[in-house]
Amino acid sequence: MAIIPIRTFPDPLLKQKSKRVRILDNSVRHLVGNMLETMHYAQGVGLAAPQIGVPLRVIVIGIPGEEEIVLINPKMVRRNGERLLNEGCLSIPGYAGMVKRSETVTVKGRNLNGKEIRVKADGLLAQVLEHETDHINGILYIDHLESLDKLRQIEAEEYQL
Ligand SMILES: [Zn+2]
Repeated sequence: MAIIPIRTFPDPLLKQKSKRVRILDNSVRHLVGNMLETMHYAQGVGLAAPQIGVPLRVIVIGIPGEEEIVLINPKMVRRNGERLLNEGCLSIPGYAGMVKRSETVTVKGRNLNGKEIRVKADGLLAQVLEHETDHINGILYIDHLESLDKLRQIEAEEYQL
């Protein structure tokens, strides 16, 4: 396992739609290991594979005090409600903005054992799921802002996704 440098805006890979994982083999397990290690090192609560330079549909989530989630080929199947949230991204260091997100989401995908799982979430987890599934579709939270003037500078200790 290794800590991989995180790609930052405007790296073109961040705007690219990632490919589905076809075979869940050791290379995918290795990728997930690197993603978890990199996310912890960067003190993020979520990370998508393209952020470390791999255009595959894989996301990891690590909210402090909660079980880690690994999702292979995640798909957003339901969103409900609307709320305005403060959001930052490890790929856009030093900035945050207010983004419209859903109140609750349901995402399905496979875990690292290949088992199909469904994650129903609200709160921070719902926000992270939307943010990371956006990443694998080449969408950044700044794409949801009316203009980049709406970004503000932040201290490093705020949550980064
Ligand atoms: Zn991000």
